[in-house]
Amino acid sequence: MKSNYYILLLISAIGALGSCSPKGPYALTNKMYKRQTDSVVRIIEQTQPPMLLDSSGSAVPGQWVGTVNFNLRKPNYVIIHFTAQDSVKQTLKTFTLVRPQVSAHYVVAKDGKVFHMLNDYLRAWHAGISKWGSISDMNSCSIGIEIDNNGNEPFNDVQVKSLLALLTQLKKVYNIPTANFIGHQDIAPLRKPDPGPFFPWKLLAQKGFGFWSDDLLELPPDNFDYATALKLIGYDTSNLTAAIVAFKRHFVQTDVSPAMTQLDLNILYNVYRKYAP
Ligand SMILES: [Zn+2]
Repeated sequence: MKSNYYILLLISAIGALGSCSPKGPYALTNKMYKRQTDSVVRIIEQTQPPMLLDSSGSAVPGQWVGTVNFNLRKPNYVIIHFTAQDSVKQTLKTFTLVRPQVSAHYVVAKDGKVFHMLNDYLRAWHAGISKWGSISDMNSCSIGIEIDNNGNEPFNDVQVKSLLALLTQLKKVYNIPTANFIGHQDIAPLRKPDPGPFFPWKLLAQKGFGFWSDDLLELPPDNFDYATALKLIGYDTSNLTAAIVAFKRHFVQTDVSPAMTQLDLNILYNVYRKYAP
């Protein structure tokens, strides 16, 4: 009888656990997510005529006529970050709090688990003030991927394997060009150091995500203008030193000093011809 009593106690304890587990620690923020997506739906359902004023302040005549041919805009870039935090739990917390005002579409944990935090078609807040070529709103055209890494450690194989699986899917689904897999450091050279010189860009390039220099490098021509080359790749060269360091964190990695050595020039010339053939 006594053992039956304990079994009953155990069953009710499991039952009690079960009754709160379906909610989980993200129940409230998932509810907030749903409310946000509902408000996005309301925005795209609006069918208003254009409300325009001409130079004299008079209303320009207009009418709403819905077309029947459309779908959602697709992301065309992938921006890779490191979290600069100590655990994936900490990152999930940051991205589910309102106050930090930051988010990403995906977070890749050290054990290879991939957290999806925002529908790919929606705009995450991961790029911040940034520029690539003439694009000044990278959040609007990109998917943000955060890799759980504190910024001072190598990226492990399991994590990179999961990242490659994710990139493979994104490239295929959205038809993202090879050149458009870049890092936060590339689009915000003055502000951001991630994903840093430990990030395996060479391996990514071998798999078709971003570019990497060839093993055999030739000397650039005498009139090679490295500032223009950096700009044509996409770097914001308004602060040239920051652009050089960003380039070297991505494409040189063994040396990230702000000076352009002969090797750096050779690498830049080689990479530049892939971006701007
Ligand atoms: Zn970042």
